[in-house]
Amino acid sequence: MYNNKTMGSNKTIIINLNNLEHNLNLIKNKIGEKEIVATLKGDAYGHGLINIFKFLKSKKINYFGLSNIEDAKTLKKIDKNIKILMYIKVDKKEIKNLIKFELVPFVADFEYLFSIEKECALQKNKIKVHLKIDIGMNRYGIKIDDALEIATYIQNSKFLELEGVCSHLPSTENFKTTQKQIEQFLFFLETLKQKNIHPKFVHISNSGHIINYKLSPQFNMVRPGLILYGYCQSPKNKKPALNFKPVLSLFSKIIFIKNVKKGEKISYSGIFQAKEDMKIGIIPIGYFDGIPQNISNDFYFLINNKKCKIRGKVCMNLAIVEIPKDLKVKTGSKVEIVSEKLSIDEMSKFSKRSHYELLCNIGKYEKRKYLD
Ligand SMILES: *Cc1c(COP(=O)(O)O)cnc(C)c1O
Repeated sequence: MYNNKTMGSNKTIIINLNNLEHNLNLIKNKIGEKEIVATLKGDAYGHGLINIFKFLKSKKINYFGLSNIEDAKTLKKIDKNIKILMYIKVDKKEIKNLIKFELVPFVADFEYLFSIEKECALQKNKIKVHLKIDIGMNRYGIKIDDALEIATYIQNSKFLELEGVCSHLPSTENFKTTQKQIEQFLFFLETLKQKNIHPKFVHISNSGHIINYKLSPQFNMVRPGLILYGYCQSPKNKKPALNFKPVLSLFSKIIFIKNVKKGEKISYSGIFQAKEDMKIGIIPIGYFDGIPQNISNDFYFLINNKKCKIRGKVCMNLAIVEIPKDLKVKTGSKVEIVSEKLSIDEMSKFSKRSHYELLCNIGKYEKRKYLD
């Protein structure tokens, strides 16, 4: 696997834990007494699973959301008392580990439940589960019409405890759709109540729901991801209500400087042709590092707070920028690619890639420096 040793220090990823704490506090203020499940899937959105976990645990977060069982085992080996919600169905051969490591799976079908019960019987143990309801995402989750039957089954099983009932909102940017889906979910909760089924936790909120909606008091747990890492997506024409701070920064440096004459072309396929003589800087960072190639030629990085336009195609491990006439640089000059001054918001708008995708790609495989 790649790390700084094999890459040299051509790039530095800095994870600012103060900003993570700032974001966590904003979330706490918004939600009040509800329980927080910190979503750490995708290597904590490219921020590094273990370090982010340890930091949040030190800030009294006790619930964590994951989609990969290997990650769950890793965290449980660090602290067996923390609670882990497994957002998606685990592979059949891993079901024994759900029970062994006391993980809390999201469940949505009988076949999975039967396998879990069988393992519980073998291990002479019980398990807590959260029933995942599909209210329009059409992803992992049981359709609402079939949910009562399965909830009743769990309620009556001697191996299963229905600790939670939850759902996931597909389009929080659309108020109308979201309101309708929440009403359906609340209606289902009412049905459960009438059947005397009272799960301890009810939850539906991702980042987009937490920041843009008034949260119903029935929801006593929330599952933020993106906002922890400092970004939020607000409905069109609406400014984000909270001032989240980006946690991840990415820096590189100029390794080579040269002059280009008017009319010369730069990088593959010559999509950039110099309109005048100019100076360019070569930066050892490319799409291998998660920089989307479609920002070629027009987006910019910052050197000494000055915008330096990318010229020509971004390559696998290199990008080229134009050095403005009034900017003094030398080899080794620091280049800001993602930072508080140049956030993923800009790159996301420009490349039409989501914040999620960019963070995962940029944060991947990298030795990171943690500031606290
Ligand atoms: C990823 C995920 C979340 C967090 O989503 P954000 O939009 O990052 O807040 C919450 N719940 C489930 C089930 C998820 O898969």
